[in-house]
Amino acid sequence: MNGEVLRYLIRFLLGEDAPELAVSAVGYTAVPTDFPRYKVVILPSGFFGEGVYGTASSLPSLPLREIEGIPLLFGTPETETTGTTLLVHADIIASACFLASRYEELVRKGVRDEHGRFPGRESLSARAGFLHRPVVDEYGCLLRRWLRQAGVPLPEEKRGIRKIYLTHDVDAPFLYRSWKGFVRSLLDKRGIATSLKGKFGVPKSDPYYTFPDIFRQDEHLRELVGDNRCRSIYFFIAGGNTKEDKPHYSLRNSDIQQLLRQIPTRQALLGLHASYEAGLNPALIVKEKKALEKAIGGSKIHLNRHHFLACREPEDADMLEKAGITDDFTLGYADVAGFRLGTSRPVRRINPANCRLSSLVLHPLLIMDCTLDDSKYMNLPFEEAERYCLDLLEQVRQAGGEVSLLWHNNSFTPAPGNYSPRLYSSLLDNLSEPHIHTDSKCNE
Ligand SMILES: [Zn+2]
Repeated sequence: MNGEVLRYLIRFLLGEDAPELAVSAVGYTAVPTDFPRYKVVILPSGFFGEGVYGTASSLPSLPLREIEGIPLLFGTPETETTGTTLLVHADIIASACFLASRYEELVRKGVRDEHGRFPGRESLSARAGFLHRPVVDEYGCLLRRWLRQAGVPLPEEKRGIRKIYLTHDVDAPFLYRSWKGFVRSLLDKRGIATSLKGKFGVPKSDPYYTFPDIFRQDEHLRELVGDNRCRSIYFFIAGGNTKEDKPHYSLRNSDIQQLLRQIPTRQALLGLHASYEAGLNPALIVKEKKALEKAIGGSKIHLNRHHFLACREPEDADMLEKAGITDDFTLGYADVAGFRLGTSRPVRRINPANCRLSSLVLHPLLIMDCTLDDSKYMNLPFEEAERYCLDLLEQVRQAGGEVSLLWHNNSFTPAPGNYSPRLYSSLLDNLSEPHIHTDSKCNE
């Protein structure tokens, strides 16, 4: 496998605080004469071999084996000692690469939903029942423990949530504000006076314009946990002509301009919400990014999330990099919440098609509002959704990772049966408390 990707994966597993000495004490080789150079050697399982990598025969079959209770995709759970070197038959390098690079999506090209996305329910992580666990981070725990056993000193792991991203995709900032909306307002029997007020009054009279409430809640959490640990990001649409993109607002519209100006004054960040069409034709990303930059007076945009989470093929992210995007927040599954990349930590993108490591940082999307309650997706009642989400937050705490929540502005609109606002408040409450467990198995 590519040496740069290998070094990156070992460093990623060990964590950013691990000293270089620890990184270079880990080998990935089957050559016995090389073993004495390392304290821990992970034996390659053959996943990266010629004629195997990229083919259906490389896919793990179920049920998976486990090592110390952690699902293992490749290799076997045995370890043995030769001289002063620990030999590990569990191929956690291939297992981590498989999950973090979206390899399965590359090989199972025929498996897509009606929007061309790889369905979470089809993923190995869901089928093997571990999508709710950041198993790549758990592999990191194992590797650190093996190194310590072999006498390599490592700093204590930092537990707790390192960073919180409260993100909001601005798909529909208004319900009744356009002329079409005005007609809808009349058809909804809101009366002529209310409809006129909706069209010509202040933006906050519109039911979808929930931004003041979102600003208030997000700022409250930021005050409690600190500016450096919590950020809000608003992703704006800047193009797209498919029916899933329409109708979208104009960035020149005065209400949108006012909203765009407000975001930075509330210490929040702006990002591009690449359109559904740009998901189909990623060459459009650069054009949309330029349109958004123009609308905000020329400041550069570096953050992205795809509309419908439709970054369809792992290779497509090349165009995000070409457009100058440095950080992407798309990678969660629409149909099931959890750890799509197998990790709770920001990870550099590895293109599984050519095994190239890129500078684009992927921030795993942990929970999207509609994933939980939509009848096509998880379809959970409030209590189950809350329990599921709180468990995910606890997993991130154990792994010392980051949390990205996606709540659309119109999810905050009160409606019968809509528990999204309540769930958001509950999660923010939970995030405001440290809940750090120092008895983590990683520090044993
Ligand atoms: Zn969207």
